[in-house]
Amino acid sequence: MQMDEAVIAITGGARGLGLSMASLLGRKGARLALLDLEQEALDIAVGALRDEGIEARSYVTNVADEVSVAQAFGAIAEEMGTVAGLVNNAGITRDGLLIKAKEGKVEKTMSLTQWQQVVDVNLTGVFLCGREAACQMVESGQGGVIVNISSISRAGNMGQSNYAAAKAGVVALTVTWAKELARHGVRVGAVAPGFIETEMTSAMRPEVLEKIARGIPLGALGKPNDIAESVAFILENDYFTGRVIECDGGLRI
Ligand code: NAD
Repeated sequence: MQMDEAVIAITGGARGLGLSMASLLGRKGARLALLDLEQEALDIAVGALRDEGIEARSYVTNVADEVSVAQAFGAIAEEMGTVAGLVNNAGITRDGLLIKAKEGKVEKTMSLTQWQQVVDVNLTGVFLCGREAACQMVESGQGGVIVNISSISRAGNMGQSNYAAAKAGVVALTVTWAKELARHGVRVGAVAPGFIETEMTSAMRPEVLEKIARGIPLGALGKPNDIAESVAFILENDYFTGRVIECDGGLRI
């Protein structure tokens, strides 16, 4: 895919990995549509990108809400043109063990609310946004590229039943869509980041992060731009589809 002038939508684009992707893709010439929950955060992100000379527009969207997603993609098509690239990046954590057992007493510790919130945003959100983008890409006859952000947690991770299941589901969606949409000129890939320095990981205790860093073969957490580069690779490489790039400093080797 040629990045120049292409309209690329990034969910969760107001900060963290999403904003870093917007900056890299914008420097490569893409026009960005940032989708996120709050106007204020989006305004700050769009302002920062404009300072870099990058064109970006903001769309207040809850990716877990079908109507909100349909409205956002309709507005993008009207104001910016057909979406040529989508990065399904919005994601949340609501960690907790499944159960806790102490002194013979067993309690349920992950609530249905915790489970549902993460599945709604991290899996249903990918489904809803991917479906809207695929419609535009196929209707336009131009095709396009969808990049889904999974996680190394997809292999299973303590305290993350909800997140790991959703991120494994994201990979299953990626492969399914790659098979279904190839004939329509749409490629679909995924990136599974390891531990990257963003607000999501800064919520973890410093001693936990230090321990994690010691276990990473490359010896440190990744930077947001490392993930942005992986996303750009999938968007630009016309022979890539249905696969996952694991960018984790060697954590899972
Ligand atoms: P972040 O918390 O810094 O940013 C996530 C963004 O998504 C925020 O701007 C937030 O407002 C937005 N968002 C949350 N719920 C939303 C919703 N319902 N609708 C629209 N936007 C919503 O997180 P990050 O670290 O930048 O992570 C980005 C993606 O990368 C997530 O999918 C995350 O699971 C994944 N990931 C991150 C890491 C890491 O180490 N940071 C590792 C593996 C995977």
